[in-house]
Amino acid sequence: MTHYNRVTKEIVEELINALGPYNVIIDSEKMEIYSHDETSIEHYAHMPEVVVMPQSSEQVASVMRIATKYIIPVTPRGAGSGLSGGAIPIYGGILLSVERMNRIIEIDKENLAVTCESGIITNDLNESLKKEGLFFAGYPMSLETCFLGGNIAENAGGGRAVKYGVTGRYVLALTVVTPSGEIVHLGGKITKDVSGYDLKQLYIGSEGTLGIITEATIKLLGLPNAKSDLLVPFKTAQEAISAVSVIMRDGIIPTSIEFMDGPSIQMSMDYLNEHLPIKGVGAMLLIEIDGTDEATVERELLRVGQLCEDNGAMEVYIAEDFYTQERIWAVRRNIAEAIKIYSPIQSLEDIVVPIASIAKVLPELDRLSEAHHVKIVCYGHAGDGNLHATIIKHPSDTMEYWDRIEPVVLKELYHFIVYSLGGKISGEHGIGLKRRGFLKETMEESEYNLCITLKKAFDPLMIMNPGKIIDL
Ligand SMILES: Cc1cc2nc3c(=O)[nH]c(=O)nc-3n(C[C@H](O)[C@H](O)[C@H](O)COP(=O)(O)OP(=O)(O)OC[C@H]3O[C@@H](n4cnc5c(N)ncnc54)[C@H](O)[C@@H]3O)c2cc1C
Repeated sequence: MTHYNRVTKEIVEELINALGPYNVIIDSEKMEIYSHDETSIEHYAHMPEVVVMPQSSEQVASVMRIATKYIIPVTPRGAGSGLSGGAIPIYGGILLSVERMNRIIEIDKENLAVTCESGIITNDLNESLKKEGLFFAGYPMSLETCFLGGNIAENAGGGRAVKYGVTGRYVLALTVVTPSGEIVHLGGKITKDVSGYDLKQLYIGSEGTLGIITEATIKLLGLPNAKSDLLVPFKTAQEAISAVSVIMRDGIIPTSIEFMDGPSIQMSMDYLNEHLPIKGVGAMLLIEIDGTDEATVERELLRVGQLCEDNGAMEVYIAEDFYTQERIWAVRRNIAEAIKIYSPIQSLEDIVVPIASIAKVLPELDRLSEAHHVKIVCYGHAGDGNLHATIIKHPSDTMEYWDRIEPVVLKELYHFIVYSLGGKISGEHGIGLKRRGFLKETMEESEYNLCITLKKAFDPLMIMNPGKIIDL
């Protein structure tokens, strides 16, 4: 285990010399916001000793050289919207925020590529691309806050991954700063590349443990001209989930197939002051189809609607206009916030299983809920087999009970997902701090040892986001 040094006055001076006083914070009130991310459990929070906000790859490299010289841990941070504690500086040290590196460097329409700094907000990037009739398809539901660099570091998925895949599919090139402070350029505006090891791919999803992403070149697509949504209520969650694999097997690839169980719909509807037009709804699917022409989208929409009706749907509502589409997506997007109002003490999971196995997840959630007296609601990206099972403390239960029971429920859930269904413990939110112990437990030993070897090769001093993914 590396012994880390404290950030002394002299080190702060060196950081100020490298970045200027405006880009270095040591005031604890101003640093508080950098002590946590969106992971809901407060005991994960930890204060950094200093926050730096470099404005270029060169400045990031200077910070890493100082950190290497004094053996100080460095935690990279995007927008802090992460849900696994990845951006929490658990050993103190330097918190490196890329928030001031948010420029679009070039939109290259000829090569369908955009190059930008890693601190750009994902939605801001897409708003700029929209003006050119282009879009970046790999973004998550937190797009209004999360940064592109954070999405790459987490290989974020999201609501459109059924058709478009996850962030990594669109990364053509990266500029990264290594733990020792070297600037490395990986990939290019090319769609094929087998020239040596694929190091770019290694950085995608590495959660800031191998280096800092400072710039990225992203592959773009033409904006689809037509889009429509279906909101499909079912009497039971099992019927809704079963309809997902029927749709997926039919050949049409929807943009999204989102699942919401009864309690998550109710909580979100109450939160938004919305009402369902029918009674007895046990679950819903929200299905989006997009494409280049309206006739094709409509034909596919009707076909998917028919499949839902044949498989137990109570109704099929079509939302063609922008206003209605926004209203129904708001229900899906606000579930997490609505659950926090019911009980802020919860564990938001993002288990992933083969599509044919999603129906088997729900009975296990019911069993866990009953066996351990916790509330479990479930929603998520059903078309990817990626479900946000959210384990919630009953407001009447004590914190002592929750602290004891949460790890027990998680362990049983993860073991079921990995060993009984061939799934993984995280499909998109990452391992971070929250799941590092469970990763070790559920990953084959030989694979885990390879991960340790890799980490040591990239970061021999263990200063790059220590304590995340790997439990050393
Ligand atoms: C309401 C809500 C909805 C969400 N929906 C989705 C969803 O649909 N799909 C999904 O995948 N996730 C989702 N998330 C989780 C989160 O938004 C994503 O993981 C997002 O990609 C994190 O980006 P960020 O900029 O906030 O990163 P942060 O939280 O700041 O950091 C995340 C990790 O990346 C590392 N990191 C950040 N920037 C860099 C960098 N430049 N270089 C190296 N490492 C870096 C950090 O060290 C940390 O380990 C959601 C979160 C919320 C709160």
